[in-house]
Amino acid sequence: MPVEVDFICGYCGETSSILIDPTAGAEQSYVEDCQVCCRPNRVSVQVDPETGETRAHNHYEG
Ligand SMILES: [Zn+2]
Repeated sequence: MPVEVDFICGYCGETSSILIDPTAGAEQSYVEDCQVCCRPNRVSVQVDPETGETRAHNHYEG
């Protein structure tokens, strides 16, 4: 079942959310367009295998 994870856009600083599949692995990466400025963010998602907790951060390069 997909879960929603928030990330901060590296371009405009606004919060966007993506839907990820927590069963797809403990370390996942996505390229997701910001919902505010529509620029592509490369977002890494970590899933804690014990709690199922998800954390996301993006790699803003430049
Ligand atoms: Zn943005």
